[in-house]
Amino acid sequence: MKKSVVSSFDVDHRTLKEGLYLRSVYEIDDRYSVRSWDLRFCAPSAHKPLCPGTVHTIEHLMAYYLRLDEKIGKSVVSFCPMGCLTGFYLSTTGDVEAEEIRQALKRVYENVFPIKGREDIVGLNEIQCGNPALYAIDETNEAMDKYIKVLFG
Ligand SMILES: [Zn+2]
Repeated sequence: MKKSVVSSFDVDHRTLKEGLYLRSVYEIDDRYSVRSWDLRFCAPSAHKPLCPGTVHTIEHLMAYYLRLDEKIGKSVVSFCPMGCLTGFYLSTTGDVEAEEIRQALKRVYENVFPIKGREDIVGLNEIQCGNPALYAIDETNEAMDKYIKVLFG
């Protein structure tokens, strides 16, 4: 890892708005790089983070379905919640652009949401997950509706 363009700690979180941001680019070598994207669901200054069940549910669904996406799926390295519960980190390889991620998020949103019950949450079982009792249905649907509106106006 040679280079990081913007570190998370260089961003003033008091003025950070909801949205999709390129947070850092790690150049592994001359050919390979990993981009880390900030999918900010909540403005930190609003002091209303997501509930843990919502974060866990979105993590399961997005980590799974973004990898299946026709355009960016093969570039997805990881999809992880932020510990502060205001968003997620998506890591991609190569030169995936913000617009491609925006469109991929919309495709998953249109194909998967609204979820109706826990059976819609892929991998939510004792074999594949550390805490399958932690999930949220209505709050997750609301959070996704709100985030897609942020991305598409
Ligand atoms: Zn889990």
